[in-house]
Amino acid sequence: MTTDAPTIVWFNNTLRLADHPALTKAVATGPVVPVFVLDDQHAGTWKMGAASRWWLYHSLRSLGADLKKRGVDLILRRGDTVAVLTELATEIGAQAVNFTRDYEPGSGERESALKDALAEQGVACRRFKGRLLVEPEDIRTKTGAIYKVYTPFWRSLSSSIDIGPGSDEPGQIASCADEIESDDLDTWALCPTRPNWAEDWSNSWTPGERGARDRLDDFLDDGLKGYDTERDRPDHAGTSRLSPHLHFGEISPQAIWRATTVRNGGVASLDADRETFLKELVWREFSAHLLFHFDHLPNSAFKENFNAFPWKNDDAALEAWQKGKTGYPIVDAGMRELYATGWMHNRVRMITASFLIKHLLVPWQQGEAWFWDTLVDADLASNSASWQWVAGSGADASPYFRIFNPITQGQKFDPEGDYVRKWVPEIAKLPNKVLHAPFEADARTLDTAGVTLGKTYPLPIVDHSAARARALAAYEKIKG
Ligand code: FAD
Repeated sequence: MTTDAPTIVWFNNTLRLADHPALTKAVATGPVVPVFVLDDQHAGTWKMGAASRWWLYHSLRSLGADLKKRGVDLILRRGDTVAVLTELATEIGAQAVNFTRDYEPGSGERESALKDALAEQGVACRRFKGRLLVEPEDIRTKTGAIYKVYTPFWRSLSSSIDIGPGSDEPGQIASCADEIESDDLDTWALCPTRPNWAEDWSNSWTPGERGARDRLDDFLDDGLKGYDTERDRPDHAGTSRLSPHLHFGEISPQAIWRATTVRNGGVASLDADRETFLKELVWREFSAHLLFHFDHLPNSAFKENFNAFPWKNDDAALEAWQKGKTGYPIVDAGMRELYATGWMHNRVRMITASFLIKHLLVPWQQGEAWFWDTLVDADLASNSASWQWVAGSGADASPYFRIFNPITQGQKFDPEGDYVRKWVPEIAKLPNKVLHAPFEADARTLDTAGVTLGKTYPLPIVDHSAARARALAAYEKIKG
């Protein structure tokens, strides 16, 4: 049934037009008013970080342009979401508010409050799926328990998944007759200015739905073959880099699943590369499910004994890590890649996180907070679950006693040293043999490469073997 009263589509976490059931339904019903609300208060401690704000700015610009082409303006408002949406509904005489379900802590309560406030005005409130492959309520172990281990979660999800055909972007969208006030995106100050550390980011990222689709196509054409082994190589472009697009909902996980399995003449197949890639996608899903069921995940340890771990609050060590000046090249390369591009390769995320937690004994929450501020793909569920995975305190975590050796990790995953040479140019002239451990080079080698340890490149801030022994001794105190 169509109506003249408009439907508000609240674009909260789904900044796209295709595969967007909340939008599809609204378009079929009558005029549509698309809205984005910047609500920093709701996010509390986990207010969107600086790098994500840069992404949001560009993603909203892209979404606004896509909507405009179809005949409607994206309305931007700032403040408490429930208050903003209910006021807007009254202002324009809306008949309904449609939105995509969110799973982060506090979202369910906010959605209920919105529903109640709208009901008082006689406005319908409709919640749709669109962010996850499977709803948290729809996946349980045989005994009805919540999955806390990844592999059975993957088995259950992959054997029962039902991916529908999806929906295309709508054509023309009917607009509302009223003139509706909107903030000017530029007044939200989402992008950095002094200094503008994101100046070059548009060269490596194209936020928005088109950028997401192009990224997926490029990856399926050129990156998927060999992904099973290449994904661990930070010196190669072996992963999809879809994470920020997924986080902002510029592409659905269903669209990725469909495109990955059904390709080359529409034949569904799942070879090793495809399966490994989909398994990674399901780590995102697993993290979201964990956070949905255990909302303390970003703040305190899943395994409670880790809350009593003898951490060291060491500001100097934290700063050396953040700035990529630890004296361990693979760690420094990763931290510099993060700051320069807003992204870091997964293997290096694991190495740098392990170094902070285990070599420096800094609480994992401090690394989590830095990633939160600096990653364009910062995602409350994936970030907290991954930090806890590395710390050993998570649901299905790497055992604490498995301590990454930053030298051998570098040698194994960046064997030619291309990654380190790119991000740590001051040691680029060192030969491969000592590139991942400059402190093991003799004086002549250092001299020939123009490296003066402690001056042009830092001496290691901790000794690997001593730090390893210290970490294991600290772990003994909470092992139980
Ligand atoms: P691909 O290898 O192409 O994988 C495809 C997709 O699968 C990714 O885009 C991502 O959505 C998902 N994915 C892959 N690996 C993981 C994983 N281990 N956990 C959850 N999802 C995964 N990922 C985020 O999206 N946001 C974060 O804030 C985040 N923080 C992390 C912090 C630490 C300490 C670590 C070790 C990992 C973190 N990850 C995070 C997971 C992972 O590093 C990134 O998802 C991945 O590097 C993104 O690159 P990609 O898109 O090229 O991945």
